[in-house]
Amino acid sequence: MVTWILKKILGSKNQRELRRLGPIVRRINEFDEQFKSLSDDALRAKTAAWAEEVAKLPDLEAQWQRLEEILPEAFAVVKNAARRLKDRHHAFTVCDQPMTWDMVHFDVQLLGGIVLHRGRIAEMATGEGKTLVATLPLYLNALTGRGAHLVTVNDYLARRDAEWMGQLYTFLGLSVGCIQHDQEPDVRRQQYACDITYGTNSEFGFDYLRDNGMATTREQQVQRGYHYAIVDEVDSILIDEARTPLIISGPTTISTHQYDKWKPLIEQLVRKQNMLCNRLASEAAAKFEEGDAETGGRLMFKVKLGQPRNKQLLRMMEDPEKRRAIDKAELSFYQDTRKEELFQLKEELFFTIDEKSNEADLSEQGRVFLNPDDPNAFVLPDLINEFTEIDLDQSLSDEEKDKKKAERQQHCDTQAERIHNIAQLLRAYCVFEKDVQYVVEENKVVIVDEFTGRKMPGRRWSDGLHQAVEAKEGVQIDRETQTLATITIQNYFRLYQKLAGMTGTAETEAAEFHDIYKLDVNVIPTNRPVARKDHNDRIYKTRREKYNAVINEIKDSHARQQPVLVGTVSVEASELLSRMLKREKIPHNVLNAKFHMQEAEIVARAGQPGTVTISTNMAGRGTDIKLGPGVPNLGGLHVVGTERHEARRIDRQLRGRCARQGDPGSSRFYVSFEDDLMRNFGAADRMTKIMERFGLEEGQELEHRWLNKSVETAQKRVEQRNYMIRKRTLDFDDVMNMQREVVYTWRNEVIDSEEPRTHIYEVIDEAVPAKVKEFLEIDEPNFAGLVHWVNTTFPLGVTKEKAQFETRAVEENAQFLIAKIKDAYERKSSHEEPTAVKSLERYIILNAIDRLWQEHLYAMDALREGVYLRGYAQKDPLIEYKTEAYDMFVELMMNIKNEVLHNLFRSTSNLQAFENFLATLPQFLLREHAPTAGADSPAARARQPQPAMAMAGGGEDGEGEVAIDLPARRSLPKVGRNEPCPCGSGKKYKNCCGRVA
Ligand code: ADP
Repeated sequence: MVTWILKKILGSKNQRELRRLGPIVRRINEFDEQFKSLSDDALRAKTAAWAEEVAKLPDLEAQWQRLEEILPEAFAVVKNAARRLKDRHHAFTVCDQPMTWDMVHFDVQLLGGIVLHRGRIAEMATGEGKTLVATLPLYLNALTGRGAHLVTVNDYLARRDAEWMGQLYTFLGLSVGCIQHDQEPDVRRQQYACDITYGTNSEFGFDYLRDNGMATTREQQVQRGYHYAIVDEVDSILIDEARTPLIISGPTTISTHQYDKWKPLIEQLVRKQNMLCNRLASEAAAKFEEGDAETGGRLMFKVKLGQPRNKQLLRMMEDPEKRRAIDKAELSFYQDTRKEELFQLKEELFFTIDEKSNEADLSEQGRVFLNPDDPNAFVLPDLINEFTEIDLDQSLSDEEKDKKKAERQQHCDTQAERIHNIAQLLRAYCVFEKDVQYVVEENKVVIVDEFTGRKMPGRRWSDGLHQAVEAKEGVQIDRETQTLATITIQNYFRLYQKLAGMTGTAETEAAEFHDIYKLDVNVIPTNRPVARKDHNDRIYKTRREKYNAVINEIKDSHARQQPVLVGTVSVEASELLSRMLKREKIPHNVLNAKFHMQEAEIVARAGQPGTVTISTNMAGRGTDIKLGPGVPNLGGLHVVGTERHEARRIDRQLRGRCARQGDPGSSRFYVSFEDDLMRNFGAADRMTKIMERFGLEEGQELEHRWLNKSVETAQKRVEQRNYMIRKRTLDFDDVMNMQREVVYTWRNEVIDSEEPRTHIYEVIDEAVPAKVKEFLEIDEPNFAGLVHWVNTTFPLGVTKEKAQFETRAVEENAQFLIAKIKDAYERKSSHEEPTAVKSLERYIILNAIDRLWQEHLYAMDALREGVYLRGYAQKDPLIEYKTEAYDMFVELMMNIKNEVLHNLFRSTSNLQAFENFLATLPQFLLREHAPTAGADSPAARARQPQPAMAMAGGGEDGEGEVAIDLPARRSLPKVGRNEPCPCGSGKKYKNCCGRVA
């Protein structure tokens, strides 16, 4: 109450902030007035003058400060240029369509521009002209010469906007580029070199990954830094896409899944469960008939656990009384005191499915069904207990204990993989529906984006789910892929020194933008007052009644020639409505994944008299709907929402499609108790009561603004939950992000370095002492091991006697070796061509980084899956993940360095030079092998790639010298993680020598 009063007096924070920008807008307009008298050349000359001045400033901070000072003048230059183009009826083509320039920035657009320049999110309603708004801050920030990026949602918009707004930039003497999916690296580089570059988030992101994970020279990289970006539809990118990272991947060598094997059994199991649930539902119906609602509710709750989409269940949920009984049963079971009972209840089913959390769990019955001989094949062993038991077993030697533990570990891995396969199959059968979450096309499972209804070819669900769905649909099961490089869009955008965003709907998610991205939202007022009429929701018992009502409303508008835009949450719903309209003989267009080619065109025509357009939630976003002749008098465009979306924001987007720029327009949402939102998070219970009180008849609806609130409460609950999920994903991702930053920075330093040898020497300086310590800083220094390691890594021909390691302190030994290694290395390189040596040095480091980093990514994936299993042991998976990820990272960095050392003398740019070098080496022999402490396991050896060539070792017998194990061409190939281990154990490499931590 108090805050409400304060708000009345002071205005909201947003209003106060905008009020402070008022004087700046006035100054822009004053400058604009002055500039009217300038010649074109004089106006244009300002660009070059500023750019020159800003370029001289010492750093970005100083440059930003200067930009802030010249903002009013610079924005005025852009606005003035826009006016000149308009006055001249400047004609041009955009995406092969003729156009005439007809825009000059409105004051609210100037406001939006200031907000964007300051690195905030500008919320501007649809049709307010965000495309034009962005020209102001892009122009200003491009003056630094560091490149300014505008991120659009699709390739078409990137090209359209670059060509369209490009008229303004080129008029002012700035260059503009645009990234398109099919461009070659050379073309991309040119686009990034422009002052301003338009492109989609995934193109920007993938270019980053390729530049940092694959390019080995500066010339191969296409981007040139991350200075300023404006993200269009920022909510959709930072919030909706928060869960799907960009991944560059290659297929793994061998697939280990068993989806094919389990599919027939799982199909039977699902069938058995469905029969069981149908029987339970009939029993429940009988109980309800007898008036025993409690038992009925209890039975139906069981059905809900076992088959959430059971037809009878859905029907019963329509009946307020039964629904209440079921909800009551559910609620009571989730009390702590009844955990045991809930467990029993679940055991009476074959498995349980949780729709909300997407989880699937086998019961004892289910396990027996799948493997009557060994139901325990689906239970994860309690490793900690088993280990303790092994440790306590007096009859075992230490060695035997280790062996036993390794066996148990291996056993546990196999079980885990099996359980995982089965759980994914169950999810595929029970939660994922064809034509809703995915479609099958050309023998492929293609994901359908739940928000947009667009197909997302090329994307795959992670974690084996995609393969499970492929198995279910009987299409070719693609091999698991291995991640070569990955980043989430969010983390890509965090690279920018300054980030801004624009969208029609950010306010409801303002807290999330602030907490996670440090982006504040300013709501910019519309240019003209909004004339849209938002009607109350209409609420029905069943979907069927709801759709009938929707059709009636469409018929009604259509009869009056008022255009209607119907929004749906899924492709399936769009098609259902389309069929119903066909029956009514109402001509209409359907916008969904299947027709996105003509999408922009169809949307543009949606405002013509009498048109009916059905569209999934965000299809056709970014295209303006202009009203046809006479339509304003009919009330403008009418928007009908056929379901409330999980997020209020998406509903607001749909509403925002009408009544642009002061046009008339109206909107209404239809809701039914069978909608997912209502079923899962419903205010259903409360509403059921209300409905009963009113004694609702078939086809009758409820409508009251209080009910809108109830729906909104449900939405808020889901939003909150989704926010927590995204936050958690990001928490996990942050760990990777820090590691990626370290690795990519190192990589780029090496690429950029004029003297890559300094990097090689840094590696020697760090890695050699660490190794020496490993051998010597232990209870019993292992001198022989050290000698062996030195000789297998470097061609130094060191012997125990000559090196006299015993006589020096550990650190001195390290320095002694470092000097010798560097000396030998100088000699080796002196035989080679200097420029070639430089590329070779870069190559040695990059190669080690890339190979091991990719392995590391794989191991991190596995870790991430693994820590969730530990969640059961009362440990916080995130903390576990962080600790282990850190250890793994330390190990990775060490491994990279060791690999660099290892390849240092095994690579050459030129064979002749190499032979010359070999001739200078001390003689060595191949006979004696010093004892080692596993310094060079078969696996470690096997995975060494041979960048340039392998060198032959050999020589005369000689007494007292130790062999240098510079093997002739490595006989073992690089092993994939799923291939048999080269040590001959018969296990997979990943479970044997290649096991990570
Ligand atoms: P948004 O992305 O904010 O929904 P667009 O950038 O697609 O809006 O622009 C919507 C329409 O408004 C476009 O047709 C554009 O030509 C028009 N428009 C934008 N700004 C102006 C302006 N200052 N004067 C006239 N028309 C404008």
